[in-house]
Amino acid sequence: MIHWPVPDSFSKKPPAPGENGSFWQDRLDRRHAGVDLYAPVGSSVLLPEDGLILEVSPFTSPSVKPYWNLTYAVTVKLGSGLVLRLAELETVIVTPGTSLQAGSPIGFIGSVLNPSLVSSASPLYIQELVRENHPSMLHIEMHRCFPPDTNSYLGGNYFQQEIPDSLMDPTEYLTNCTPEDE
Ligand SMILES: [Zn+2]
Repeated sequence: MIHWPVPDSFSKKPPAPGENGSFWQDRLDRRHAGVDLYAPVGSSVLLPEDGLILEVSPFTSPSVKPYWNLTYAVTVKLGSGLVLRLAELETVIVTPGTSLQAGSPIGFIGSVLNPSLVSSASPLYIQELVRENHPSMLHIEMHRCFPPDTNSYLGGNYFQQEIPDSLMDPTEYLTNCTPEDE
């Protein structure tokens, strides 16, 4: 069984193609590298499957973009060999080198956006997230290998139109997850 990674997310399904937060969403100068699951700040993030924590690293920072808060990414290798990056966490409670079971908590969601610093000069999808009151989310990427291909990559987006060879669409994977209450 694959666990739904955010029990408190507003939706228990990944966004449909083309929707905000969907995989490879067209954001004009950039494309979305993963899938976003919108959830309140402080929501627990669970490991969907048994995995080995490879890396914990900063993901967004106000030193890079003023409208970003500091959030972290947890990179996990699954038994299948695929690599998940679970990002936009405010607090991470796991350390690299640890093997954990499916359903283990790994941290808590933060607010990736600082709405007071989003302006009409910010990217349109950022302005839309603020209008929709969705400044906090789990950003999930799926890669065939580690380290992921991060050429032309920043904050969960690739600044290129072609999908990198190592990147996968996590939509179907998340569709097969089982929410805790089922
Ligand atoms: Zn995202």
